[in-house]
Amino acid sequence: MRETLKMLIKIQEIDQKVDQLNHSKIDLPAEIETLKKQVQDLDDNIADGQAKLAQLEKEKREQELGLETAQDRLKKYQQQLNRIKTNREYDAIQTEIDVQKASISEYEESILNIMTTSEELTETLEERRQELETLKVQNVPKWEQLEIDLSSIEDRLAIQQDHRKNVTVRLEGRLLAAYERIRKGKNGLAIVPIRKRACGGCFKTLPPQKIQEVRRTDSILTCENCGRILYWDENLES
Ligand SMILES: [Zn+2]
Repeated sequence: MRETLKMLIKIQEIDQKVDQLNHSKIDLPAEIETLKKQVQDLDDNIADGQAKLAQLEKEKREQELGLETAQDRLKKYQQQLNRIKTNREYDAIQTEIDVQKASISEYEESILNIMTTSEELTETLEERRQELETLKVQNVPKWEQLEIDLSSIEDRLAIQQDHRKNVTVRLEGRLLAAYERIRKGKNGLAIVPIRKRACGGCFKTLPPQKIQEVRRTDSILTCENCGRILYWDENLES
């Protein structure tokens, strides 16, 4: 293969790496952000659950206090029953006793409900904490690696630009300009191999004459359909 074509292929490889690096400069911060947000969201969820648990604990204490008060009152009314003289007094105290008993049973039920809810929430929180640990083991090394990748992009870009300069100084300016013009119009692919008797860029079958020309010629030949520069690669089944 002609030296010029080899240089163009090399330049295209470098340009594709540069494109990838430039894309990474945009994509990596978003990927890192997503990985961190997954951990943060689960962490927030656990914190919400803990706050809810504390609130339930507070409500339970309030209900227990109410229960104690009702129990004290009941005791007091039951003692009064022993000292009453009239039926009327008896009825009044008995009514109070019934009220306190109903109140006690309400408090007890409420406390039981709170305890059930708390137990379920505690279990859920334990599961979430394990999920969080697993997620951290997965995500932290990933985002640390991505942060390293991101911080080295500028250096890697500089290296590729150096490589490019080393190749382009040896290339005819007119040819480089043609390559750059085609590449710009063709989505980054300016020079393509012939594959299965077709252009490796637009996949249109090439006339046998054209294939022979590309194999033998010393000049730069392009695909008549898409305008890309064609080359022959012995290693490809063309
Ligand atoms: Zn083509």
